[in-house]
Amino acid sequence: MHLIYEQSTPGRRGVRLPASDVPAASALPDTLLRAEKAGLAEVSELDLVRHFTNLSRRNFSVDTNFYPLGSCTMKYNAKVLENSAALFTPFHPMTALLPGGVDFCQGTLGMLYDLGQLLADITGMDEVTTQPLAGAHGEMTGIMLIAAYHAAKGNRAKKKYVVVPDSSHGTNPASAAIAGYEIITVPTAPYGDMDLELFKAAMSDEVAAVMMTCPNTLGLFNPHIKEISDIAHSFDALMYYDGANLNAIMGKVKPGDVGFDVMHVNLHKTFGTPHGGGGPGSGPVGVKRALIPFLPQPRIVMDGDGKLQLETANPGTIGRTANFFGNFGVMVRAYAYIIMLGREGLIQVSEQAVLNANYIKEKLKGHYDLPYDMTCMHEVVFSASRQLEHGVHAIDIAKFLIDKGYHPPTVYFPMIVKEAIMIEPTETESKATMDAFIEAMIEAARTAESSPQALHDAPLTMPISRLDETKAAREQNVCHIG
Ligand SMILES: *Cc1c(COP(=O)(O)O)cnc(C)c1O
Repeated sequence: MHLIYEQSTPGRRGVRLPASDVPAASALPDTLLRAEKAGLAEVSELDLVRHFTNLSRRNFSVDTNFYPLGSCTMKYNAKVLENSAALFTPFHPMTALLPGGVDFCQGTLGMLYDLGQLLADITGMDEVTTQPLAGAHGEMTGIMLIAAYHAAKGNRAKKKYVVVPDSSHGTNPASAAIAGYEIITVPTAPYGDMDLELFKAAMSDEVAAVMMTCPNTLGLFNPHIKEISDIAHSFDALMYYDGANLNAIMGKVKPGDVGFDVMHVNLHKTFGTPHGGGGPGSGPVGVKRALIPFLPQPRIVMDGDGKLQLETANPGTIGRTANFFGNFGVMVRAYAYIIMLGREGLIQVSEQAVLNANYIKEKLKGHYDLPYDMTCMHEVVFSASRQLEHGVHAIDIAKFLIDKGYHPPTVYFPMIVKEAIMIEPTETESKATMDAFIEAMIEAARTAESSPQALHDAPLTMPISRLDETKAAREQNVCHIG
């Protein structure tokens, strides 16, 4: 397929406007005019439509097939949520900040305020800011809030470290490092969670925060979580909850009830926004009362008359962390999702997500090594170590699944599992879909034994086969393929 620029023919146009029959109002000043042409592709409307339609058909999405990408919660995103988000498009995101804007925007501010309250209820936090634009951005915002909390107590210099388990998502230590902390990594015990004794040894008065995902990236719920947070609090370290795995416990456990002080929620994972390819995301951050004074501004607050106002003069705030109020459209989707499902529906989501993952675990554990063989939560992590005896790696199985029409599961993460294959079916897949996927996984395991080369050669049905991924990352040269 050629790039759109390679299809360009000088003078070709998609749309031709008739010559204007009214006088031009005024010419743009020279300073606003380009010196040169913009260099856009010159194509007909049909060329353009075909180009992008064909490109989109090479895309894989939840709307086209099963997408069991562990840690990403690639659930079906109901179209009614898209329609809900579209209802708000006439509003400029700055409207509330204009003179009189707050009066005009009580409805949109009310939606944001209500969403914050719903998320606070779901997570057991006292207040939520919707500003952060993704999970990682939420983590950074959360760690900045923790830093502000320690600074307000005169402890900013003393509190140097953030503790993370070695199973943590890479964004956890990265966010803490960007916020100025040194990282202490605690190994995982054979029972699949942060080693409790090594954790105790790592703790001191110099620790500012402990960042955890629960269930962790092995899909396992940590039975010591309350004890861990009690220990952290005894050193005045705050507990940060990475909410990427909230789909497993929503309606069942509130992170705020088991000792977490700050957390983010990935609306694009748990709450009905399509994602992939980098966006759009949203990572609202919830905090316990002690951290409210440091929240980003403008903060939406309700006055005594029940009217929403924007608080902008809080001296303790860490400041604004994103433009406007965050990714507004994503929040409309999340709001509609929560209202649509209700309390009982959200509980059903997590129950079904956990049931589905355990179904796949039980069906596949005779064919793949299961390093942590216990009841999992919403995702299950296998290892391709048995297949490795035939020279087949996790990546080969992933590529084979592409030929079968599936998006591959997450591979090589979490990094503590050799040849990891991390499968997250989510609650929205039917038993029939999961059964067909299980069949494909079993076929991959059998093929690894009978003809490993077939797996090395996959995928055969795609426009391109295997890329030199290192070269592709180092030399980002967008040339035309196939
Ligand atoms: C996805 C994910 C993140 C980061 O969230 P983004 O929204 O992609 O920035 C953090 N931790 C875990 C466990 C995740 O799965």
